[in-house]
Amino acid sequence: EKLSSKDAIALEDKYGAHNYHPLPVVLSRGEGVFMWDAEGKKYYDFLSAYSAVNQGHCHPRIVNAMTEQAKTLTLTSRAFYNDMLGKFEKYATEYFGFDKLLPMNTGAEAVETAIKICRKWAYEKKGIPEEKAKIIVFENNFHGRTTTIISFSNDEGARKNFGPYTPGFVKVPYNDADALQKALETEENVAGVLIEPIQGEAGVFRPDADFIGKVKSLCNENGVLFIADEIQTGIARTGSLLAVCGDCTCQGHCEKQATYQRPDMLILGKALSGGAYPVSGVLADDEVMNVIKPGQHGSTFGGNPVAAAVAMEALEVVRDENLAQNARNLGELFREKMNEYIAQSTIVKLVRGKGLLNAIVINDTEDSSTAWDICMALKENGLLAKPTHGNIIRFAPPLVMTEEQLLDCVQIITSTLKKF
Ligand code: PLP
Repeated sequence: EKLSSKDAIALEDKYGAHNYHPLPVVLSRGEGVFMWDAEGKKYYDFLSAYSAVNQGHCHPRIVNAMTEQAKTLTLTSRAFYNDMLGKFEKYATEYFGFDKLLPMNTGAEAVETAIKICRKWAYEKKGIPEEKAKIIVFENNFHGRTTTIISFSNDEGARKNFGPYTPGFVKVPYNDADALQKALETEENVAGVLIEPIQGEAGVFRPDADFIGKVKSLCNENGVLFIADEIQTGIARTGSLLAVCGDCTCQGHCEKQATYQRPDMLILGKALSGGAYPVSGVLADDEVMNVIKPGQHGSTFGGNPVAAAVAMEALEVVRDENLAQNARNLGELFREKMNEYIAQSTIVKLVRGKGLLNAIVINDTEDSSTAWDICMALKENGLLAKPTHGNIIRFAPPLVMTEEQLLDCVQIITSTLKKF
């Protein structure tokens, strides 16, 4: 029996923990760039489950890979080998250009994994005294919700009353290479620098063009690991395979590209499965990854055969459908069209972003409800987006969108905004 939207919301309200504040829309089906609610109303998805559904909803190839594997073997744990994981590891390491992969399930777990590897590397390869390793992070970061990760957040909602906090992190302002340099000079025992190449949750904050290159150089000069969290920005979202690829338009890993700021550790999640299944992982070269020995890290579901099958297909789709190039082209068109609108609007301050990871900043305060009200009106008009930080609305549709669909969405967005 199908639930009405009203009843579905009532159930969650009564029986679910209230750890989210969703827009009141109940989705029951998805296909490509579209989703349908319980009453059959059709929407453009302009969030893509926070950039997990880059390949579009229920991509037939990904669903097929998942169901075929689900009928064959779903889980062995890592107590035994399975015949899919090695293939996935080979595929992913060649795809991104690293020696090894450590597979996990969720983004936060992959970030935790990178933190553990970085610390172990620091003690065993760099000779930092035990318990003393520090990792430099950035203000307004978002890396997930575990106790260690929220320990270095500066979002009060994410942190408050979840202490005591994990020590060993130093925070510096984002997009400030001088501040990073100073921290590297003054702080002892720095092991690594953990960074989002574009800050997604903070409101799609894009640093200066040369910032990530400076971060990498500073890491190299100081012998610390450059760790890129590309969970939200990676896998074609920003118009290149990774945000650290800079302006490179190739569909895969290419070390020759001058703009490629190769991290020592690359953290991926979300679109690694096209949103079909929780799959995340950390990529690194042997020198770093080999500090992890049997029994020192893992997860029951990490690297399971379904995850392996789904992730390989999801990555193959990104390449076959030229999603990076499409994100780049449509992103430029989107910002161009939005800027035309903004030139004669007072409600929107600006549009910013890269590829199809964009945001508009509403001309109002962070605690006003305008952005929420706009998202409610967009929902009525058939487009789903969500505010972040009160007055910012993120726009991140699946990368399989066509130009015609994008222009249709621009029309919905601008005509909705005109009512405010
Ligand atoms: N890191 C970044 C940059 C993210 O955007 C997110 C999720 O939004 C995470 C980590 C956490 O991923 P997950 O929600 O899968 O734990």
